[in-house]
Parts: sequence; structure tokens; C-alpha cells
Amino acid sequence: MFNKMSNATQLIHSIPVDPLTGAISVPIYQTSTFVQEAPGVNKGYDYARTGNPTRATLEDIIAKLEKGSTGIAFGSGLAAIDAIVKLLKSGDEILAVDDIYGGAFRLFTQVYQQFGITVKFVDTTKPENVFEAITPKTKLIWIETPTNPTLKISDIAAIAKIAKAQHCLLCVDNTFASPALQQPLSLGADIVIHSATKYLGGHSDLIAGLVITKDELLGQKIKFLQNACGAILSPFDSWLVIRGIETLHIRVKQHCENAKAIAEFLETHPAVDKVFYPGLKSHPNHDIAAKQAKGFGGIVSFTLKDDTEAAATTVVTSTQLFKLAESLGGIKSLLSHPAQMTHKTIPAEKRRASGVADSLIRLSVGLEEAEDLINDLEQALNALAHTTVIKEKQLCLG
Ligand SMILES: *Cc1c(COP(=O)(O)O)cnc(C)c1O
Repeated sequence: MFNKMSNATQLIHSIPVDPLTGAISVPIYQTSTFVQEAPGVNKGYDYARTGNPTRATLEDIIAKLEKGSTGIAFGSGLAAIDAIVKLLKSGDEILAVDDIYGGAFRLFTQVYQQFGITVKFVDTTKPENVFEAITPKTKLIWIETPTNPTLKISDIAAIAKIAKAQHCLLCVDNTFASPALQQPLSLGADIVIHSATKYLGGHSDLIAGLVITKDELLGQKIKFLQNACGAILSPFDSWLVIRGIETLHIRVKQHCENAKAIAEFLETHPAVDKVFYPGLKSHPNHDIAAKQAKGFGGIVSFTLKDDTEAAATTVVTSTQLFKLAESLGGIKSLLSHPAQMTHKTIPAEKRRASGVADSLIRLSVGLEEAEDLINDLEQALNALAHTTVIKEKQLCLG
């Protein structure tokens, strides 16, 4: 019967009822230690860095959701990424997607490079680029799909085959898709990581990271590293992530519907130049996205015909429902201007070359009515037309 159930039903019923009291909500075990009957004789827990029942429940849920053997909950997405890099040693190399999340870029290049772990960046949208870049030093392949903020898509199954043949681990940062849409372990990846701060938490109210491995032994190694280094998720935040995950499927479904409607609207607006959304037929890897994911996600990016930072500033300060903020995946719609925010430290030429134009705006489409969100964007884009008219008038007068 369980096999026939939808993912949403399986998920909701994989969250256990408390065996002690019957509480339908997972209890928060706010404790640092656990009393032992005799030295080494305990009920499965001794010290809460090593293990906590609330965290363990979250870890079981996410392992099931991602179809893995082991789940491990960290204090942030970056702490999760950090634990994976610690599987490597000096002299090893990481092969990473070229428009990688900025925090991962900083960790790889500014922290681990000085420990002798090198990183090479490639455009992983073409699997042959990955194959060609692998050397005997390559131990870990790191991809995100879709990427931030240009929503490039890489073929997980094709890259997994290459990784396996070359004896490298493949880790997929699945933050943008979430397990509701994409399950990389089923496509051949070895490790999945999440910033649970985004869709899994889903309410913009916590920072958390998750690691899921396919192989149990690999999972044990990462659990060892977590206990040795200490970057655990607290009981309360574990509970908040569980509470977020309970509504993951229905939220993501609505994020996808709203994002599609907005992407289609933006494509028709005269002030908009390009729209980046894997669900659009115009997306260069639409077919791969459709093949490996159940939906196209809630993130949409676009550029303006007036490709300037000033024009983008006008738009991002003219919306009322879309709030100007970093981060994504919450119930409230957010928008950001990467050139002046998340990608500010990247030299302009390099940023433009990676597809992040001066006017590129990224939307994290929330759970409001699509029509209201479209009206909000329309009035913000019209504000742009208005300032252009004023500028032209000033030019004529001047
Ligand atoms: C936010 C994010 C991270 C980092 O997660 P934190 O929870 O902020 O540490 C990693 N990868 C992606 C794709 C992200 O969006």
C-alpha cells in the first residue's frame, strides 16, 4: 500500500506520532544530556551534540524524502557544505559548477584552498565539460541545478555516470528544486545537500542545512565529522524544519504554478528583455529540466531592455508585494538585484560573462495569488516606463 501512495501522503505519514504520549506533533527535546542507567547503558542517546531525538526525527524524514540511507542536520547550509569538503584531503580537487552559490565559492576558494584542496570551475550544463576537466586529483564533483540566479540546468544522470566511471563523488546542492521536485540520489548522485533555510523550512524563519547520502558508510563518515566538528542543528530549529516540511509538497506546487504564470507574463512585457525560467520552452535546457524534475520551481529571473543598474533599482524599489531581500523559498514573495546585492563582490566583467547582467532581477515567487503578484510587477515595470519618459523629456529639453 505504501508504495502506491503519493509522495505527499507518504511524507505526512512518515512523521511519527510520539510513542510515549501519543502527541501528534514531534516533541522538542530541549536537553544537553541524557541520564544513563549504568556507564554506556542508555536509551540510544548520551550527549546532544552526538544525537538528539528531535534532530534524529528530522534526519529520518529528510533521508526518506530524498530516497537516501542517512540524513544529517546542520546549523546552516554552509555548515552542511563544509562537512562534505572535509571528506577530502590536501592535494584533492573539487570540480564545481561555474555559477555556484556565492557562499560555497567563498568557502572553496578562501578557506579550503589554503589547506591544499583546489577547486576548478566548469560549465556543467554540458556533461562533456565535466568529463574533460576531470584529473586523477578530482575527488568531488559539485553541481547545483537549477543555478542561482540564471537558472542553468545540468543533467544529473549524465554527470552521475561520468562521476561513477571516474571514481569521484557527485554532490548535488538541491536547494532550488527541493525533494518535492527533484531527487538526485535516484538519478545516481552520491550526496545531496540543502540549505533548509529556503524551501524546506519554507517560512523565512530559520537557518539550517541538511546532508543526505545514498550510501550508509558515507553517511556514517559525515556523521562522524559532524560530531567531531560540532555544527549541529538545535532541537527547536529541527522542529521548525519538520513543521516546514509537513507542507512542502503543497507549497512547492503553488510556488511552481505562480512562477510559471509570472514567467509567461514577463515574456510578454515590452520593458523586459530576457526571462530565465526552466519551465519556459525558450529555456536552453528545458527538456533536461522536464526529464529530471517534476516541476520547474519558484525562482524566476529576468533582464530589462534598459540594461542598467538604475533601471533595475527603479523596479526593485517600486514593487509592493515583492519585498527587496536576499534569500528565497519562503511564503512571501521576495526580489533581489544580484549586481548590487549577492553578486556585488564579483568583478562586473566576470559577473556579466556568467550571465548576470546589470539589470538582472531575481524573483522568489511566494504563495500570494498569481494575479496579485503579476499586477505588482506590472505597476513596477510601468514605473520604469514612466522614469524613461521623464528622462527622454529631460533630454529633449536639455
Ligand atoms: C542559501 C544557499 C546556501 C547556503 O545556505 P545557508 O543556510 O544560508 O548557510 C547554499 N546553497 C544554495 C543554493 C543556497 O541558496
